Amino acid sequence: MGGKKSKRKPVAPKKPTQPLDVLFNCPFCNHEKSCEVKLDRPRNAGHIFCRICLEDFKTTINYLSEAIDVYTEWIDACENAND
Ligand SMILES: [Zn+2]
Repeated sequence: MGGKKSKRKPVAPKKPTQPLDVLFNCPFCNHEKSCEVKLDRPRNAGHIFCRICLEDFKTTINYLSEAIDVYTEWIDACENAND
């Protein structure tokens, strides 16, 4: 009784994919690339948070918004808060 030999398709080599998440420097703890942006496009919500100090910020986005826009708004909000 021979077992069935199932042919396996060769696995395609993985392309190096860029992570969807974009990392930015934190304005609070000054860690580099510790802040992660999530874009919730169906809800028009942007969220950024720092993985080190856990500061976070939420803002409204539109279909043109990119991760950098959420980050920029966060920085602006920080500067205004420090006024
Ligand atoms: Zn931080």
